[in-house]
Amino acid sequence: MAKSKFEYVRLFETEDRCLPNTWIVVRVDGKGFHKFSAEHGFVKPNDGRSLSLMSHAATAVMEEFKDICLAYGQSDEYSFIFRKGTQVYSRRSSKLATNVCSLFTSAFVFHWNEHFPTLKPLYPPVFDGRTVLYPSDQNMKDYLAWRQADCHINNLYNTTFWALIQKGGLSPSEAELKLRGTLAGEKNELLFSQFGINYNNEPEMVRKGTILVRRRTPVPLPSGGTREKSQIFREYRDVIGEDFWEENSHLLAA
Ligand code: ATP
Ligand code: ATP
Ligand code: MG
Ligand code: MG
Ligand code: MG
Ligand code: MG
Repeated sequence: MAKSKFEYVRLFETEDRCLPNTWIVVRVDGKGFHKFSAEHGFVKPNDGRSLSLMSHAATAVMEEFKDICLAYGQSDEYSFIFRKGTQVYSRRSSKLATNVCSLFTSAFVFHWNEHFPTLKPLYPPVFDGRTVLYPSDQNMKDYLAWRQADCHINNLYNTTFWALIQKGGLSPSEAELKLRGTLAGEKNELLFSQFGINYNNEPEMVRKGTILVRRRTPVPLPSGGTREKSQIFREYRDVIGEDFWEENSHLLAA
């Protein structure tokens, strides 16, 4: 095709290929979900419908992008880990972030009704997306540990905050004041002594977040025998510490 005289404007586009042989993480996060959750009457501190919808949307992303070997979600965010050697979109950073974020958002809306059958979204939800590179396996493991530690800190805070309001009759500002400067141990103690809640008995999904892990598993054939099939498993467990990585060593293979 003949080139037009306008063709030169393409040169203004900048190169954004991710460094080769490096872990690519795309994280999406809901825009203003503090407000979105309040306006849609999410159960506090943890609305199970929203969490299952988030994981449904994340599974749709993993089904489309087979080079995502692992995803981790909590609250209004999901992180997607592409295998180090992926060549999808020639590793172009903005292509990866926008495609993942766009598919996640549209799947979130597409499947909304299955999780909130009696409620329509009041306006279109928005997610942001970013690409981050981690050069070493340890960096990538530490990234996931960071998100899971964040989940733990926030969930302990939110569980105590909402117990003070829902069971203790405090206003949000009174609850905030009461919790200001408290350590984890003090929140655990307050939950137990005042409300009889043992934080460790709260569901793992809210304490640890959700892991979606891709694994090859044998599936039985009608003719007898088995065939290896790649499947996505949903788990609620520690990614902090080595156990997870020892049991899922296939994830670290390029
Ligand atoms: P930003 O646009 O900067 O991300 P945000 O309001 O989304 O702002 P976040 O730090 O992302 O702020 O926090 C998300 C908030 O959404 C939580 O603090 C919580 O109030 C709410 N939220 C997210 N998921 C749930 C859920 N499953 N149940 C109840 N509330 C939730
Ligand atoms: P890529 O993922 O690389 O963008 P693509 O298939 O979307 O691949 P484009 O170059 O973006 O390729 O072209 C979009 C194509 O979508 C068009 O070539 C056309 O076939 C189709 N298309 C888009 N809009 C319309 C429309 N309004 N009516 C009919 N066909 C359309
Ligand atoms: Mg934020
Ligand atoms: Mg948010
Ligand atoms: Mg968030
Ligand atoms: Mg197109």
